[in-house]
Amino acid sequence: MDDPILDCLIVGGGPAGLTAAIYLARFHLDILVVDGGKSRAASIPCTRNHAGYPEGIEGKELLRRMREQACKYGAKIETEFVTKLEHDAKDGLFTATWGSGCAVAQTVLLATGVSNRRPPMDEELHDDALARGLVRYCPICDGYEVTDKRVGVIGSDSHGVAEALFIRSYTADVTLIAPDKAMRLGGGDHEKLRQAGIECVDGPAHAVAITGNCIVVDTAEGHYTFDSIYPALGSDTHVQLAEMVGADLSKEDCIKVDSHQRTSVPGLYAAGDVVIGLDQISHAMGEGGVAATTIRNDLGERRPLWREPAHDAEEVEAGA
Ligand SMILES: Cc1cc2nc3c(=O)[nH]c(=O)nc-3n(C[C@H](O)[C@H](O)[C@H](O)COP(=O)(O)OP(=O)(O)OC[C@H]3O[C@@H](n4cnc5c(N)ncnc54)[C@H](O)[C@@H]3O)c2cc1C
Repeated sequence: MDDPILDCLIVGGGPAGLTAAIYLARFHLDILVVDGGKSRAASIPCTRNHAGYPEGIEGKELLRRMREQACKYGAKIETEFVTKLEHDAKDGLFTATWGSGCAVAQTVLLATGVSNRRPPMDEELHDDALARGLVRYCPICDGYEVTDKRVGVIGSDSHGVAEALFIRSYTADVTLIAPDKAMRLGGGDHEKLRQAGIECVDGPAHAVAITGNCIVVDTAEGHYTFDSIYPALGSDTHVQLAEMVGADLSKEDCIKVDSHQRTSVPGLYAAGDVVIGLDQISHAMGEGGVAATTIRNDLGERRPLWREPAHDAEEVEAGA
């Protein structure tokens, strides 16, 4: 492995990782982004709450622009999935491994995000419904779009109840459906739902078809037709690499960081949905910017980050 040691390896090329890449590349640091290509942002048909885009922007296009911006300043991006991360406590270096290669880095930023748990439904139907706004995952993001529409929420625990109550401020027509069996609700939840006029339906729930601009859900109480459904089944946080190097996790299974995005492992940082907080593009970008600036300043404590005088730099480039 003769490649030079990177200043920073960024794992994850969603809004958090790419924002950090833009900052770090513009700090004249040697960085690499390794991205598995499954950003949640890529599944957004059109985000309308991201500031600066009054007409909205497709998630894939936003990511494309961010990648272009990072590469313009020298960031390198590889589409790979990092399977192993090691940390040598003696020299402080990290070694990351993926299918076709590996890299050694002084610092690592984990911006690996989360995955939403999907409702039971055919994968093709799911992707089609997601693209058409018939399946939605984030009422903070797109609750506005279901204003006065018929909405089904699939979930039964406190998360499902909270989501149904949240969506009730957009529409009077909300139905909460248990995902797998009869509805099980905690004390007080029945009353909250009753007061909000939210109907409760027993599962198992299974989204079965798209008809026109609607989605049909099969339940224990028959077929229900909605303009949109929101699965509220929780998410899985991608913390495996953090665990491999012994970083502390929070009780919510997210990577613990300080206010500068440092984890409990020196030289390891985390940003975006993988850290506890608001799971939004703006937040992921903000944390990416904070992490990058902290990484730059922490590297500066280890060695001067001074730039060569311009003529010396030219000589070096010319091989003098
Ligand atoms: C349907 C939907 C609609 C949404 N709408 C909005 C919206 O309108 N507005 C808004 O603000 N937010 C929205 N969100 C939320 C937003 O997408 C996320 O908050 C945001 O993408 C988080 O950015 P991130 O960089 O932390 O993670 P992600 O964007 O999820 O990126 C993480 C990246 O890390 C990669 N990765 C993970 N593990 C590894 C590994 N071991 N090796 C290499 N790569 C790895 C993944 O493949 C992925 O590419 C929406 C989410 C969904 C699902």
